[in-house]
Amino acid sequence: MPTRTPTICLQLLQLYFPTRAARFPSRCSVIAARQSSNDASLPTKSITFFPSPTDQGAAKVLNSQALARLPTSSVLRSLFLGAFFSSSLLFTPGFALLKKVANSPSSIWNPDKNPLLRAVVKPLIYDQFCAGINRSEIQARIAQIKSLGFSGVILCYGKEIQVEKSNPQCQSVDLAATGGGDQELEWWKRGNLETLDMLGHGDYLGIKMTGCGKSITNDLLQGKAAPPSFTAAMDAIVQRAISQNCRIWIDSEQQAVQPTIDRWTIDLMRKHNRGGGQAVIYNTIQAYLKTARAKLEHQLQLAHAEGWTLAIKLVRGAYIDTDLRARIHDTKAATDAAYDAMVHDLLHGTGIRGVPTGPGFPSMQLFLAGHNAHSVARASALVRTLHARGTLRTLPEFGQLQGMADQLGCELLQEGEDAVVARASPGASAMPVPRVYKCLTWGSIRECMQYLVRRAVENRGATGAVKDGMPALARELRRRGVDALMGRRRRGRGRRMSG
Ligand SMILES: Cc1cc2nc3c(=O)[nH]c(=O)nc-3n(C[C@H](O)[C@H](O)[C@H](O)COP(=O)(O)OP(=O)(O)OC[C@H]3O[C@@H](n4cnc5c(N)ncnc54)[C@H](O)[C@@H]3O)c2cc1C
Repeated sequence: MPTRTPTICLQLLQLYFPTRAARFPSRCSVIAARQSSNDASLPTKSITFFPSPTDQGAAKVLNSQALARLPTSSVLRSLFLGAFFSSSLLFTPGFALLKKVANSPSSIWNPDKNPLLRAVVKPLIYDQFCAGINRSEIQARIAQIKSLGFSGVILCYGKEIQVEKSNPQCQSVDLAATGGGDQELEWWKRGNLETLDMLGHGDYLGIKMTGCGKSITNDLLQGKAAPPSFTAAMDAIVQRAISQNCRIWIDSEQQAVQPTIDRWTIDLMRKHNRGGGQAVIYNTIQAYLKTARAKLEHQLQLAHAEGWTLAIKLVRGAYIDTDLRARIHDTKAATDAAYDAMVHDLLHGTGIRGVPTGPGFPSMQLFLAGHNAHSVARASALVRTLHARGTLRTLPEFGQLQGMADQLGCELLQEGEDAVVARASPGASAMPVPRVYKCLTWGSIRECMQYLVRRAVENRGATGAVKDGMPALARELRRRGVDALMGRRRRGRGRRMSG
């Protein structure tokens, strides 16, 4: 208890006196990443996502330019929710309330049924983190995000089934409540086709296999082969995705189901990722697992030997609270190191057992999903260094969840725009422009509240990063206030959405 008061005071200080608060050194900078790294290939002068003691001035200008893209409503909500997420005093009761709204059987607590509750939850929470309830809301949201400069979106349906914490190795879930597997599978297929219909060229469809329903979840739990009905449903979804030039990523889930998800996804990649280097199916690897690197190596070896393209979404892992702890790295630092080492090796095309290194490294696709500023900054700096040397083997894409780490996404967009400007100068070599995506979830308010409860659990550990981002948001808000008072037009270089 005695430690909470200073934390909240610091947050309030940061909100009301952002310039002063920014003098407190922040932790997230490439320089810090370099200090903890033995990678001499990282450039000395590099992008800084949050101010460090030595880069304060430059970072401040960059942050302000990058955040100028965001609508004021989003800046305000981010500040409010940031204060909430990073305060243990507010988080505990607020989280209990969120869980009630997500799970209570009473219609009073159901925002889809109670209009008063909906009037609070929809604008304050749902609109910040979720894409929309129906097609017109979702398409308006996607258009807004693309107008900011993002390369595209990943659209996912919010429904999830979770294996109970008390029984993370359970072998089955109760089928009685849902009325049978075929009906659920058909409904799931239609939902995914409908989701695809809302996507454009180059976007992703995000798929959670347990979203197929309890029958498929039981097959996953029991390690069975994919049933023909599931394979047929996936084939229909993949064909539609190919015809729209979209890609599909398969989420990784809890350990009780993940080995089977990996097997089924490898079969899908083997079947569909054959189009001359362009993959349509992505598997997800969770770096927090002690077996993550072995999985990566195994899948790259298979792809190389069998002549298909491996596509990987790399995440740290979301189920630390409910999964078998012994299978997860003992410390956060070990997870961070494992994540960064895999990125390092895939970008360099070295250090992966069983495949050629250097120019013969297998061509693959890599999506770096996460909100960790160190990892993103390191990866981004490495892309530029290796590209300049002509030794970049894998060009990653980047993505964050809607409503989270907006600052990080904006910085990457700014970096891309700077690269485009730099290309125009005489004698400049063409630097790659990072492709950055936002991952959106759609569904009813109740379904999305359940999804948010999960995100709140996994993002509790990220409160330091949330806190680090708040001074920049507060500075941006203050700048807008001053501009409005002085009748000045906005001066951000990047595009900005209205609202
Ligand atoms: C676009 C996108 C897609 C995603 N898809 C998936 C998915 O398919 N499957 C999935 O599981 N997750 C997914 N996630 C969530 C992801 O796995 C992380 O939980 C989340 O992004 C927070 O981690 P971070 O990399 O952003 O960074 P940070 O906030 O720096 O890291 C937090 C993460 O570190 C790890 N960690 C924390 N404490 C410890 C500890 N004591 N010991 C060991 N490890 C620890 C946990 O993985 C925790 O989630 C996705 C995230 C994004 C942004």
